[in-house]
Amino acid sequence: MAYNISDDCIMCGACAAECPVSAISEGDGKYVIDADTCVECGACAGVCPVSAPSAE
Ligand code: SF4
Ligand code: SF4
Repeated sequence: MAYNISDDCIMCGACAAECPVSAISEGDGKYVIDADTCVECGACAGVCPVSAPSAE
């Protein structure tokens, strides 16, 4: 299962910079993860200041 970003995202961009496969892009009101590209490394969750990305 891919990681997903919740509505808590404050659009800081930190996760997109850390993603090794560039699966994260700026969406409408929050950043979004492309489920087919995500390799579930958890790097995005590790850098997010508001814990928005999760593997739920
Ligand atoms: Fe990118 Fe890893 Fe986050 Fe998936 S879990 S979006 S591969 S940083
Ligand atoms: Fe949103 Fe967290 Fe990514 Fe920043 S690091 S853009 S708050 S999901």
